Formats: sequence, C-alpha cells, structure tokens
Amino acid sequence: MKFKSIKGTKDILPGEVEAWQHIEATVRRVMHSFNYREIRTPVFELTALFARSIGELTDIVSKEMYTFRDRSDESLTLKPEGTASVLRAYIQHNLGEQAPLIKVYYIGPMFRQERPQAGRLRQFHQFGAEALGSQSAQLDAEMMLIPLDIYQALGIAQSRLKINSVGCERCRPAYKEKLVRELMMSYDNLSPESRARVKQNPLRVLDSKDENDRQLTKHAPLMKDYLCQECSDHFAAVLALLDATGTPYEIDGRLVRGLDYYTKTAYEIISPALGSQDALAGGGRYDLLTQELGGKPTPAVGFAAGMERLIVALEKAGTTASGNQSPVLFIATIEEPARRWAFVKAHELRSQGLSVELDYLGRSLKSQMREANRQRSRYLLVVGEDELKSGLAKLKDMETGTETSVTLSDIQRALKR
Ligand code: AMP
Repeated sequence: MKFKSIKGTKDILPGEVEAWQHIEATVRRVMHSFNYREIRTPVFELTALFARSIGELTDIVSKEMYTFRDRSDESLTLKPEGTASVLRAYIQHNLGEQAPLIKVYYIGPMFRQERPQAGRLRQFHQFGAEALGSQSAQLDAEMMLIPLDIYQALGIAQSRLKINSVGCERCRPAYKEKLVRELMMSYDNLSPESRARVKQNPLRVLDSKDENDRQLTKHAPLMKDYLCQECSDHFAAVLALLDATGTPYEIDGRLVRGLDYYTKTAYEIISPALGSQDALAGGGRYDLLTQELGGKPTPAVGFAAGMERLIVALEKAGTTASGNQSPVLFIATIEEPARRWAFVKAHELRSQGLSVELDYLGRSLKSQMREANRQRSRYLLVVGEDELKSGLAKLKDMETGTETSVTLSDIQRALKR
C-alpha cells in the first residue's frame, strides 16, 4: 500500500517552501514594526475552550472541528483558529498583570474538517495578531493596517477592506429581535441554511451567499444603523483613522464573521483574484471573550489571515518568491582521498556559514559537474589526487564562467557569496 497525505492537507515541498519562508519573514518584520511579539501555543487544546469561545452554533464548532478522545478519555481538539488559545494563555499566565496592554502575533497550522476545494483545506496556515487590554479604536485600525502592510510589502496590489460594526451586548439584542421579525416574514422562502440561522444566528442570514436570500433580505435592517452611542462613536473613530492613514475601505453592513465572539468592529480583506473563496483575512473586536473564558474583563481586538490563499494571490500577481536555494560551492571530487578531503573541507566551510554541496553518489566527474550546474551552485571546485599533492585547484565561477587557480587551504578568500 502506498501512503498518501490526508485529503485536504498539503505537503509544502522544496521549491514551494521558499515562498512560505518569504511570507513568514515579511510577517515577522511587519509585526516587529508594530511592536507585536510572537506567541506559540500548542496545536491542541481542550474541546471546551473552542466550544465556549467560537460558539456552539457556529459551523466551525458544530461540524468542522477535529475532535478526539485521548487515552485518558479527555476530549481534545486540534485548534481551528488562533484566538481562543492566545486568550487561554493570556489568562493562564496572568499576562494582563505583567503589562496593561499585550500585543502578540502567531504563525501556525489550523485544522477544520471542511469540504476540500480551492482555497479550503483541512490543515491550513494562518498568521494573526491579538491586542489585549485596550478599547482604543487605534488598535482596531492597526489590526487592518498590519495585514494590509504585509500584503503591500509582498506585492499584492488589489485587496479590498470591508468593514462593519456588529454592535455590542447593549445594542445588539434589540436589533436582533427586529431583524428576526423581519426575516420571519420571508422565512418560508429562505434557503434551508438561512432558515436554520434565523433563530441561531440571524445576523449571518444577511451574509448568505444565496442570491435569493440576498434579494429577500435586500431591505432588512442593518446592525450599523442601530448601534448604541458608544458603538457608533467607536465605529466612526475607526473609520476616521482609516481615512487619516489614507486606507481605502468599504462599509459592508451585511458583513458578519463565522465566529460568534465579535463585538463592535468586524472586517474582512478580500482579494478579487481569488474567486469564490476570496477572503484573505478577517478580524475584529471581541471585548467580552476573555471574561467568557474565565479571565478579567479585557477589551481586545485581533485578526487572522490565511497563508495558502495568500500564496495563490501572490502567484496570480506573479510575485512569488523564487524557489531556488543554491549552494555557494560544489566540490567535485575524483576518487579517494579527495572525497574524504572534500568532506572535511566542506564541514569547515559550512561551519563558517557557507552553503556547500558534495557528491554522495560516487558519480563521474562529468556527472558531478552537471549536478553542480543543475543546482546552480555559484562556484565549482574540482579536486583529485594531483590537486591534493600540489595544494592548488581550479575554482570555476559558474556565473561568469571564469576559472582561477586557488590554494586549497584558503578557498574561502576566493568565494564571493
Ligand atoms: P477565520 O478564522 O475563519 O476568520 O479565517 C481567517 C482566514 O483564514 C480566512 O480569511 C482565510 O484566508 C483563511 N482560512 C480559513 N479557513 C480556511 C480553510 N479551510 N482553508 C484555507 N484557508 C482558510
């Protein structure tokens, strides 16, 4: 039997991994510029953590989580998103007592048993950030500027920021009632999915992709028009900051995220190049979640961005990082004792930080030279018995084609990196 990777998972092979490394380096650099520090949480957590935070009725918790019992009969879940774990760590380690505002970011794999399709995997990767401890609208805006800056640095030209306010525990209940009354009038004609949502999560009906649902809800009331003073002021402050930084956005009164915990700001960044799964990133404020998970009331805001979709968007923009990581030096050898000499020399050069490749397959000199070429080594050194005796060998600069005679004991000097 030949083993294959699990449906919805992907190997990232050499040649592809360089694009990932480039994205990761860019994410780290931009996060650092905003003074966010990295946090790494475990890949699995108690199932209850996600049920509690994301919401029992969300698609993620009700049908997509990788949940299993371990040998102690504990119910565990591979993390479907990053925020719950960050908050768990924040509460567990009393991070709020160390500083009034904690700004962290993460990069890592997430797991959801979704129907695999373009842009939807079962193990996918996200980078994201969370700022815990402040109500400032500046942080809401920052959560949009960070991913946008990352996209810009990577060369994604077209991305659109859609923003909404989903209100808070003071203004949302009355609005919800109004919305449900309205939805009930066309209940029988809604799609089955939306019908199920009317009672559970009516705001999501407005976000339905079904064209008929959209028509039926065309004149439905929108949360943004029923905000309390505080939510309304906060929304205006976020938009003013986007205006002041010259950040284009669209207000989308129907936007709701697939996670229940948002209050006030909710946003999405989409890339028109991506087709039907066009969301690159999403985020918002979740002022009640820390308390919900047993911590002190802590206003907070964050975002998460998909990395597979980002790679696709970069490919479409023609700006993927080159998939080539070539050695600086290839040492081609003719039999023993040159092979042993090359092994020792390579180790010496490698410990000085140079990337050096050898022949491990006992190939002919000609075939070793072909290999050096295939690997696009910057230099080629040919060493046999004569070279060892004289202490001199030919070093070929593969870019220019020029050959120079070098002293074997002092090769490093001749290598331009
Ligand atoms: P969410 O955590 O659902 O808000 O998702 C944030 C971002 O992660 C989305 O905008 C996507 O870019 C990405 N994402 C979410 N689910 C998947 C998935 N199943 N496969 C690939 N990317 C995903």
